[in-house]
Amino acid sequence: MPIDRRKNKRRDLRIRKNKEQPLANKGECWNAKIETMAKNEMANLQLARLKKQLQYNYKNSFFYRKKFGEAGIKPEDIRSINDLQEIPLTTKDDLRKIQEESIEKFGHPFGPNTITCAPIEKIIRLSATSGTTGTPTLYTLTKHDVDVVNELNARRFWMAGIRPGHVILQALSLSMFAGGLPLSQGIMHVGACAVPVGIEGGTKRVLDFIRLTAPVAIFTTPSFGLYLIEECPRITGNPASKLGIEWFFTAGEPGGGNIELRKMLSQGFGGAKIFDHTGGAHSFAGATCDEPPESYSGMHFISGDYCVLELISPETKKHVDLTDGAIGELVITSLDWEGGPFMRYAYGDMIQVSTAPCDCKRTGLKFKIIARADDMLIVKGVNIYPEAIRRAILRFCPEVTGSFKIVLDKPGPLVTPPLRIRIEYSSRVDEKSIPSLEEKIEKHFKEQLRISPKFIWVREGSIPREMKKTKFIQIEGNNL
Ligand SMILES: [Zn+2]
Repeated sequence: MPIDRRKNKRRDLRIRKNKEQPLANKGECWNAKIETMAKNEMANLQLARLKKQLQYNYKNSFFYRKKFGEAGIKPEDIRSINDLQEIPLTTKDDLRKIQEESIEKFGHPFGPNTITCAPIEKIIRLSATSGTTGTPTLYTLTKHDVDVVNELNARRFWMAGIRPGHVILQALSLSMFAGGLPLSQGIMHVGACAVPVGIEGGTKRVLDFIRLTAPVAIFTTPSFGLYLIEECPRITGNPASKLGIEWFFTAGEPGGGNIELRKMLSQGFGGAKIFDHTGGAHSFAGATCDEPPESYSGMHFISGDYCVLELISPETKKHVDLTDGAIGELVITSLDWEGGPFMRYAYGDMIQVSTAPCDCKRTGLKFKIIARADDMLIVKGVNIYPEAIRRAILRFCPEVTGSFKIVLDKPGPLVTPPLRIRIEYSSRVDEKSIPSLEEKIEKHFKEQLRISPKFIWVREGSIPREMKKTKFIQIEGNNL
């Protein structure tokens, strides 16, 4: 049965009658003072907070003290944001190592050898990275830090138009990720209603709860969104366009910035608005403002008061200036953070920044996530990211389904050509027409990506759909 939207409409009307409740207007901010703060004013605020934070880190963490020692400097030597470059980077491997050492030495992961600066009795929440590669690393938060995360999430959701009276379904992994409890608390913080059903229960359970709770918004990965569009008619007898979803929040993968994907998701969900966002469990946060699915200018960096953002070259690890169009690996430093503040933490995402002003008046720069730095492949000297391959393949939907795997003999980044791509043709395509389809795709890859992959054609449904983060790279010998 199609979802009856009348109940939600009644609720919206009730909200609009209440003059104290602001309406969802483009440009409206949860925290206008910060979100539209002049750039020089923000830089001053960052520097003041940075100086305090570095003193705090130095005083409370052996690990950070050692980092200063390695560079032969003290916190007071950092007199500008640029001086930050003098402090050595912290890597994910560093965090894993000190976490393990702490568990061994102290019986818990908050030892003085780690980045945890607050006493253990002040830590009230742990979140974790997704751990798609290796052991997850923990984010440690005090009550103050949890309040900061709630504030940052509220800025993101308010920007998209989420208001009290909106029911929002979380179809991301609830298991220790930003898409679980921190997201639920952020939804509640703006006064909206969270339905934390999670993705672990499977597709049918997500669809059951959409019927039961009639959400107007869904948070999930772009891949799972496409999967819902595919599966919804089979499970419910109706297309996903009848589910009543008006906001689709993409997370967990860079696909929310992929125009082809945005269009497919919007169309599949009956004209839903597509919002992309990232961060959500610590001090780095970004989200798109209102934009049609056919365009994508990137996410606003909306947490400048709690985080300094830097770029480095993924190869040399040297600083890259934040000029319009600059590309680099994201490095973050937490400000006004008590639990486990990041200090020049190399985050792993490759981003491209844009400094052009935005209609919404927010002053935070915009950025697009290009890929995980670890995902980069090099084919005959050409740097290539799985996300770019996905973008190229999606142009050929519906002749292809959009599902694919990059098949490698051994882990990248160096690939012995040709790059092999297992690709699904749609059930509506006759096998005889595959050669001509392949010719078109090969031409596009050569022109747009400067590579000539070898395509391995498989039938629709041959490549298993992943509910969490989709892994596009398959090392030969694993199950496909
Ligand atoms: Zn904007």
